[in-house]
Amino acid sequence: MIKQLTIIGVGLIGGSLARALKQADAVGEVVGAGRNAQHLQQALALGVVDRIEMDLAAAVRGANVVVVATPVGAAEAIFSAIAPGLSADTVLTDVGSTKASIVAAARRAFGELPKNFVPGHPIAGTEKSGVEASFAELYKGRRVILTPTENSGPQAVARVRAMWEQAGAEVVETRVEHHDEVLAATSHLPHLLAFSLVDTLATLDDKQEIFEYAAGGFRDFTRIASSDPEMWHDICLHNEPALLKMLERFEADLSKLRQAIADNDGDYLLQVFTRAKAARDQFCGE
Ligand code: NAP
Repeated sequence: MIKQLTIIGVGLIGGSLARALKQADAVGEVVGAGRNAQHLQQALALGVVDRIEMDLAAAVRGANVVVVATPVGAAEAIFSAIAPGLSADTVLTDVGSTKASIVAAARRAFGELPKNFVPGHPIAGTEKSGVEASFAELYKGRRVILTPTENSGPQAVARVRAMWEQAGAEVVETRVEHHDEVLAATSHLPHLLAFSLVDTLATLDDKQEIFEYAAGGFRDFTRIASSDPEMWHDICLHNEPALLKMLERFEADLSKLRQAIADNDGDYLLQVFTRAKAARDQFCGE
């Protein structure tokens, strides 16, 4: 049981964690903090948090666990703001989609990485944002990746692991760099492609007709382009090396497909499509 949990950034991810822990009777008081009083009032009205605080240092005072659940670009300022309120026993974690940038932000804000700091990332979400989109079941059966730093103490890691397990998730641990490379490939690149494709179509002269004719395939491929632009702007800029590496690889493969179409090389297209179908069927099911 976490006696006091403070969540900074009570949106989809932070709000869903609060809901899940409340549903599991795994938390006493949930304190919500952030930058927008109206949104925090909404979280209070929905029963997602029990108390709200606009002063971040005050919000973390007395907390057993603090979860930073804002866009990754805000992390450094938030770490600096909460530092005066953290006690030696408070466990600090985050949910950011990039990990090297979060660790660097913590190093800059705290001077050295605290032993109670355990970076994390739930591999769960939707294209919706805000506390009204949060729900208790978001993490059920989903993975949460922890990337403990060289300073993270075993007790802090165990605390964060237990919290996510109580929320219904399966917890795995990996290295920061490995996390950022894998997520660049499986999440950050696909989001970039979805935003880019929809934007290309949206700037065509006959966009009205194009979108009217859009069928299921287009909706499946582009659902994630409805995600929050601010959040994804932050993610792309904060995972730059890994994302650029993946993007270069993808551009090279896309150029080969373009060439195959120009050369009427059906064999090449068939090879790529067959390999891709087999991989997707194997790894993603239906
Ligand atoms: P969200 O629904 O937009 O929630 C973000 C929350 O952070 C909002 O409550 C927002 O408050 C607050 N916030 C934003 N900037 C802030 C700042 N400068 N200071 C204080 N509070 C601030 O976004 P989310 O989907 O929960 O994402 C939160 C984090 O989870 C991100 O780091 C993201 O990378 C990570 N994540 C997202 C997903 C996903 O699929 N959505 C999955 C895994 C991890 P206001 O709106 O009131 O300003």
